Amino acid sequence: MQRDVLIVGFGLAGWALTDALKKQNISFVVFDPLKKSSSRTATGIFNPVVLKRFRSIDSANEIMDHAIPFYRQPKYKDAFHPLPIHRVLTSVSEQNDWAVASDKADLSCYLNPAILNNINSNIHTPFGVGVVEHTGWIDTNKLLTIAHQEIDQQGGFVAESFNYDALEISANTLRYKNWKISHVVFAEGVGVLKNPWFSNLPIVPNKGEWLIISCKGLGLKNTVKSSVFVVPLGNDLYRVGATYAREFENTLPTEKAKTWLITQFEKLTALPFEIMYNGAGLRPTVPDRRPVVGSHAKHTNIWCVNGLGSRGVLWAPYLAVGLVGAFQNPQMISPELHVARF
Ligand SMILES: Cc1cc2nc3c(=O)[nH]c(=O)nc-3n(C[C@H](O)[C@H](O)[C@H](O)COP(=O)(O)OP(=O)(O)OC[C@H]3O[C@@H](n4cnc5c(N)ncnc54)[C@H](O)[C@@H]3O)c2cc1C
Repeated sequence: MQRDVLIVGFGLAGWALTDALKKQNISFVVFDPLKKSSSRTATGIFNPVVLKRFRSIDSANEIMDHAIPFYRQPKYKDAFHPLPIHRVLTSVSEQNDWAVASDKADLSCYLNPAILNNINSNIHTPFGVGVVEHTGWIDTNKLLTIAHQEIDQQGGFVAESFNYDALEISANTLRYKNWKISHVVFAEGVGVLKNPWFSNLPIVPNKGEWLIISCKGLGLKNTVKSSVFVVPLGNDLYRVGATYAREFENTLPTEKAKTWLITQFEKLTALPFEIMYNGAGLRPTVPDRRPVVGSHAKHTNIWCVNGLGSRGVLWAPYLAVGLVGAFQNPQMISPELHVARF
């Protein structure tokens, strides 16, 4: 069997690559055992503004322009939730910072200058909220399920782990079991730590925990960002999270993180609530906070795309488009994102 590209991993990085390849009529096959991934457990918020410091991420508009058309495709309509974020302001000084930031050229299309007061009597916002526009969240689990079904029906999905020992490498062609391919792309998230070609990358697993809570009468219509994100899911359900931890014993939810999340939610509202679910996942992060993409120094038909632990929803389509271009012209990948920086 012959394909242009074999993709290892079907989180957001692998998924976006399949969509970018389809657009260019490049054939592919995906290998993933379909176990719990970081992407499937993500809150899925897309937002190009750093809400701690009121600044935009680098190349924010370019990254958004790539990402939104991927998620806005009709087939993903049940997974795409455009929704403003209400950033809870905590002091007069933050109100001033908001006013200054919303006047800046790179932020003015995202930060509404008006500060809203008394938006909802059930939540505690004495200094009001600032509204971040053109944001939203993706139901990543739903999106990946829809995409997997489509690819599987077209015979492009193998629901098993990739065995590194079975890859035969030569200059122009790669063979994996009965597949003949031109490129292999590893989009394995934290799984890359076991990858013999890219195990040198400084991917640091960062554990994130979150809750689904039921809070009758809270009535939030927009995502609220206080010390945590609170995303309205409908039917009085809210997703609250997530935590960040570089040190952890296992991938299971912990009492400590649950208690912290509950405390943050209680700061926001006095209404009673019930915990419906407690989840956890591992983000693939990089110390310099930028994703990693590019080919292996010696085997130039072996590629990786990783480090999407922060803003993976936004990065995935942008990196996928760049990667497809790089198959023809490897210089297209910018040095700040390239694997060669390690
Ligand atoms: C709790 C939490 C909340 C988050 N919230 C947000 C958010 O709000 N917004 C945002 O933008 N980002 C968020 N993220 C981060 C982000 O969405 C993910 O970290 C990112 O999507 C990672 O994508 P990935 O495809 O690189 O890796 P993963 O999602 O981990 O996917 C890797 C895939 O590779 C497969 N794999 C690994 N090894 C092999 C192998 N040998 N053979 C075959 N398959 C293999 C795995 O099974 C997995 O399916 C969050 C993450 C977490 C954990």
